[in-house]
Amino acid sequence: MKKHNFSAGPSILPQEVLKQASDAVLNFNNSGLSLLEISHRSKDFVDVMEEARELALQLLGLEGKGYKALFLQGGASMQFVMAAYNLLENKAGYLNTGTWSDKAIKEAKLFGDVVEVASSKDKNFNYIPKDYAIPSGLDYLHITTNNTIFGTQLKNIPALDIPLVADMSSDIFSRELDFTKFDLIYAGAQKNMGPAGTTLVVVREDILGKVTRKIPAMLDYTQHISKGSMYNTPPVFAVYTSLLTLRWLKENGGIKGAEENNDKKATLIYSEIDLNPLFTGFAALEDRSTMNATFNLTEDNLKETFDTMLKEAGISGVNGHRSVGGYRASMYNALSLKSVGTLVDVMSELERKA
Ligand code: PMP
Repeated sequence: MKKHNFSAGPSILPQEVLKQASDAVLNFNNSGLSLLEISHRSKDFVDVMEEARELALQLLGLEGKGYKALFLQGGASMQFVMAAYNLLENKAGYLNTGTWSDKAIKEAKLFGDVVEVASSKDKNFNYIPKDYAIPSGLDYLHITTNNTIFGTQLKNIPALDIPLVADMSSDIFSRELDFTKFDLIYAGAQKNMGPAGTTLVVVREDILGKVTRKIPAMLDYTQHISKGSMYNTPPVFAVYTSLLTLRWLKENGGIKGAEENNDKKATLIYSEIDLNPLFTGFAALEDRSTMNATFNLTEDNLKETFDTMLKEAGISGVNGHRSVGGYRASMYNALSLKSVGTLVDVMSELERKA
């Protein structure tokens, strides 16, 4: 039986995408060859890369607006390094909203001064800092739009006159935003886009080429752009499966359609968390993520019963991250409202039983 998959990442992908990806592993485009055993320079694969890059920009509404999309390797963690390597000359600002922002800050400090413009560390990152001032002279401001571990999400994206860099790993393609506010967006594929192994980078070309340091080719966005995201052998399976997911997203109403579903799922689970006395939400109400809902049991002694009920209902992947504890329901684009309904049913059944 297929499980209700609430995993935080790698995470659920549309069933039809998994089917198409497995077909391509056996026989790609009816070529009699596997996707995994052909040259990345073959026309069939070059077409995949080109379509994936174009579709990513199209879905974000960034086509023809001076942006380039790349599919790179090294995960979002490599982007913590690359963003600073390519953009940080003197001083950069970082909004510290969780474990991943913290890691991005540590890497950036290797390249220049880093100003933590605000932090929610004082409350174990359960909220998004709001009234902060942006110091002058920053090369860019870095934000994390969704904090996967803590279940908080930036609802208001600042409009700035300096480049805005965003780690969108856990909410890319999940909600409509004015993406032209961003100058560099990066996201590991393994939540809303595909399997682990590739990272989408969307960059406005005119912010590049401004730092004086020498940049190794593999870490240089300009090099990757000039080679059409094929500077070296790309992770062909991850890119192809990401393309299949992007096509699926387009066919299902694009980001607008995804957002409507995601809002319904989030409303359903948060209503249960708020109404059911056995549960309490972790994140500040106004900052609650539509992707990762973090919550705790109010009575620890019910944990075993609840965990057994979850297992019996075929619910997988709802354990909270070790730094928060409790539970985390990750509700990425491919997760159905029905799966969230099943989880909510188990939560209300627990209340009846207790
Ligand atoms: N940023 C965010 C917001 C994440 O959720 C994660 C991974 N869960 C990362 C960065 C790190 O990604 P990767 O493992 O692809 O390096």
